[in-house]
Amino acid sequence: MTAKLIDGIGLLYTGDPTGAEEIEHAAMVVEDGRVVWTGSAAEAPDADEREDAGGRCVIPGFVDSHAHLVFAGDRTPEFDARMSGQPYTAGGIRTTVAATRAAGDAELATRAAALIAEMRRQGTTTVEIKSGYGLTVEDERRSLEIASGLVDDTTYLGAHVVPAGTDADDYVRLVTGEMLAACAPYAKWVDVFCERGAFDGDQTREILRAGIKAGLQPRVHANQLTEGPGVRIAVELGAASADHCTHLSDADVEALAASDTVATLLPGAEFSTRSPYPDARRLIDAGATVAIATDCNPGSSFTSSMPFCIALAVREMRMTPLEAVRAATYGGARALRRDDVGVLRPGSRADYAVLDAPSYVHLAYRPGVPLVTSVSS
Ligand SMILES: [Zn+2]
Repeated sequence: MTAKLIDGIGLLYTGDPTGAEEIEHAAMVVEDGRVVWTGSAAEAPDADEREDAGGRCVIPGFVDSHAHLVFAGDRTPEFDARMSGQPYTAGGIRTTVAATRAAGDAELATRAAALIAEMRRQGTTTVEIKSGYGLTVEDERRSLEIASGLVDDTTYLGAHVVPAGTDADDYVRLVTGEMLAACAPYAKWVDVFCERGAFDGDQTREILRAGIKAGLQPRVHANQLTEGPGVRIAVELGAASADHCTHLSDADVEALAASDTVATLLPGAEFSTRSPYPDARRLIDAGATVAIATDCNPGSSFTSSMPFCIALAVREMRMTPLEAVRAATYGGARALRRDDVGVLRPGSRADYAVLDAPSYVHLAYRPGVPLVTSVSS
């Protein structure tokens, strides 16, 4: 095994708020895909190889804990229409469902892999993928089989929307029965779009409980468009994450702050639907753990860029640059209950990005600029 010393790091952001979160003039030693040492460059141990970071900033690879990458089709006209004044409703999902059902496995896999590669070029090394554009037993199953061939964190989202022409109660029976049985072998998580026009509180509880019984862990699309029961249910069932959190009551904020459920904010969705952003400041000040993810999907947030979401979080959600980069690394890892990623400390995976900048602050200070010069994982 070869130990490599990365030297000359102007600023090492470790993503570890419980330890030395930022180290100036730093070095890091990696061996066999793991971090074995971090600290001041002056105290760096010897290694077999040496790489000079040239004063650049090194950060953990971003953890994008919310993405919908298995789909076909195109929704450019819908985006164009929305930017011309039409409001967003959950119904647009059905357009992608029709295209996804018509696509072959190879096409779906190729498109998802291309999006993962696009994410990686922007510094992302861990990606979660949801199903949810099949909505039949076989189309959900194959979506998750494709996703599980690409990433470790796969999420069964049969409860994305009730398919056109289907009775809602019948569909919930399918999602908690035959579809769940077919999908569970390929999924780690179960998710529900708890929203007016999608699934109500009782249906959400029933679907999540069935998933838990089948060995999956819960997460919830909660409080995106309206102040519904999603966050309360997420906390009640011990979900790893409540995602969106755009419309929260004081009780929702308090519940999140008092729980292990991460509030995952998806500012790309508000950007792309021209909607009010969630108030990250309110969540952080209350003591909640916050994550940022892209929500990459063809309808409401077709960005694969965590740096873009960080810039939005700082500009539009009242987060500091440090809070935003923390939410995109440590926060994302907490939202997936992963201790091995989103952090650079001895024992963690050596997943990191080098920025052509002296500090992670540039991710928000220089929005839209491709600052990631290399990615290792
Ligand atoms: Zn989503």
